[in-house]
Amino acid sequence: MEDVEVIIVGAGSAGLAAAKELQRAGKTFHLIEAMDRIGGRAWTSDQPFGVPFDVGCAWIHAADRNPYYPEAKSAGWTLFHHDMNVDHLYFGAARAPDAEIAEMTAADARLQELIEAHQGPDDRLGSLLEKGHALRAAATFSGPMDFGQDEDEISIADFRAAADLDPNYFTKEGFGALVARYGADVPVSLSTPVTRIGWRGPGVSVETAKGTIRASRVIVTTSPAVLAFEEIAFDPLLPDTYIEAFFDLPMGMLTKIPVEIKGTRLGLEPFADMLIERHARHDLYFLCFPFDLDLMVGFVGGDFAWEMEAAGTEAGVDFVTDRLADIFGNDIRPKIGRSMMTRWGGERYVRGAYAAARPGKAAARQVLMEPVAERIYFAGEALAGPLIQTCGGARLSGEAVARQVIASLEASRA
Ligand SMILES: Cc1cc2nc3c(=O)[nH]c(=O)nc-3n(C[C@H](O)[C@H](O)[C@H](O)COP(=O)(O)OP(=O)(O)OC[C@H]3O[C@@H](n4cnc5c(N)ncnc54)[C@H](O)[C@@H]3O)c2cc1C
Repeated sequence: MEDVEVIIVGAGSAGLAAAKELQRAGKTFHLIEAMDRIGGRAWTSDQPFGVPFDVGCAWIHAADRNPYYPEAKSAGWTLFHHDMNVDHLYFGAARAPDAEIAEMTAADARLQELIEAHQGPDDRLGSLLEKGHALRAAATFSGPMDFGQDEDEISIADFRAAADLDPNYFTKEGFGALVARYGADVPVSLSTPVTRIGWRGPGVSVETAKGTIRASRVIVTTSPAVLAFEEIAFDPLLPDTYIEAFFDLPMGMLTKIPVEIKGTRLGLEPFADMLIERHARHDLYFLCFPFDLDLMVGFVGGDFAWEMEAAGTEAGVDFVTDRLADIFGNDIRPKIGRSMMTRWGGERYVRGAYAAARPGKAAARQVLMEPVAERIYFAGEALAGPLIQTCGGARLSGEAVARQVIASLEASRA
């Protein structure tokens, strides 16, 4: 591989966007990806169910600001507007009456007010719930099912900085497929893990499994967890503030456990949101029969999602099956066909779903937005401003950082 102006580590949404921006500006670059495919956490696969299934991102959030949305539209893809709204709420196996669902919606609005008004030293989202102003069910979506962390592990400041993600769309062809389509014309070296970034002399030298390349700048788009796990060594070590920031932005977790349901819709309409509240945050959310497919997509989030991943796919599918049987009766068991469980925690080159700042540590994101020695730049969902945690946000982050790099290259030449 020849030396270039910029090396980009990671061909997920952020890395592809950075590459396209550099391409447009006529800069030379190498885009290097550890996996054998592009897209990273955006990944649509036909393998589990014979139809496109998003193993990673699925909701095209903030469609009015998300560049993927107009692209899906102009490609003529099947789009469905669907903002989260609990249609069916259960406490254990008991169905909550409509009045309780309305109460939960009101509690959610109240929780947002508390978040906005919050002052004082306790930065744990859980501290607001302890005051009893929000129903626990409302907090399930603010916490584990959305931010990927239990409330006590969420920083209020970090949560407050994240935008409301409405309007949301689904695409039948898959969000991962949309990202793959977006990146299809970008040259990339696949199956090439970067192991070391040297920045002693001028520029950077990037060691990969297939050799070393040099460049003036490097853009690192891996998740902070990949860096916390030291998958990539830095020589010399990065300043402590950066290393601490990787640890202050641990990965939240969201695990999908989709099951095929044959021959019945259980009285549920396509895209219905069903939440089952249980003890100790062992809650379960279902996106029911999206696009009228024979699929109920179960989700667990936060600490329980990590536990579930450790327990394994069989335990996950059993859990989902048992909860469905609790509500719909044992007759549902023979109607369950194929199933799977996503395993993002064990994915070496991701290690979780998306980053969430520890309480008191929301500033870690700003630390990583500052380049190191005007040579090492970070980008990705963790650094996506109000669109943190989202695939569209990752893309905007990749574009913005590439523009910063282009400006820095041009300034150094002037
Ligand atoms: C289960 C789940 C559900 C989600 N749901 C949604 C959703 O509905 N909507 C939404 O907008 N977002 C969602 N997200 C988040 C979204 O997928 C991510 O925010 C986004 O895809 C991240 O893009 P990225 O480019 O920042 O990182 P990544 O996609 O992680 O890209 C980084 C790339 O770097 C590569 N890499 C890592 N280490 C190395 C190395 N050493 N050398 C070379 N390459 C390396 C990785 O393989 C990866 O391809 C979800 C995520 C998960 C896991």
